[in-house]
Amino acid sequence: MKIFGIGRNYLDHAKELKNDVPAEPMFFMMPDTALLTNNKPFYYPEFTKNLHYEVEIVVKISRVGKNISEKFAKRYYDEIALGIDLTARDLQEKCKQKGLPWEICKSFDNAAPISKFVKLSNYPNIQDIDFSLDINGKTVQKANTRDMIFGVDRLIAHISQFVTIKIGDLIYTGTPAGVGPLHIGDNLIGRIGDKKMMDFYIK
Ligand code: ZN
Repeated sequence: MKIFGIGRNYLDHAKELKNDVPAEPMFFMMPDTALLTNNKPFYYPEFTKNLHYEVEIVVKISRVGKNISEKFAKRYYDEIALGIDLTARDLQEKCKQKGLPWEICKSFDNAAPISKFVKLSNYPNIQDIDFSLDINGKTVQKANTRDMIFGVDRLIAHISQFVTIKIGDLIYTGTPAGVGPLHIGDNLIGRIGDKKMMDFYIK
């Protein structure tokens, strides 16, 4: 399986990092070794001094497809989870300045903590889901998927022009504003609506 991450998919977040608002979706990829499951702790790596959290809704692909049109994209997913797209922001700044790819700042081991999956049938509309992240008891990110610049169906249409999607592939759909640094000892609690989805520590 493979993991897609979407960059700059919420206006307020694109602005806070002083990025241009994209005219079409942009994605990067992570290997399966980026996943961190079951609320296991994340060990702060030595290669960064500025590790950031980004809470995101994650969509799981349920069907193989290529060149999927936006209007049929709904048929290709039926579960979501909450994920954190951990980012070495200092390395990312260097990559951006030099126009280099993002693997070293986004795709490292355990860079993608993820919750258990829930059936999408529990939610009437994928573009109307509240989600949030608390760090040490304080809410730092809180958003609704209606504020995505490109909705999930558009993301799937875009990605599948270039890369065949397969059952079990994941899409981290982008983060809203409020990203910031993590420190050893931090406790992260992520929610979809009022439901606690993840609760883990940085060690
Ligand atoms: Zn992200």
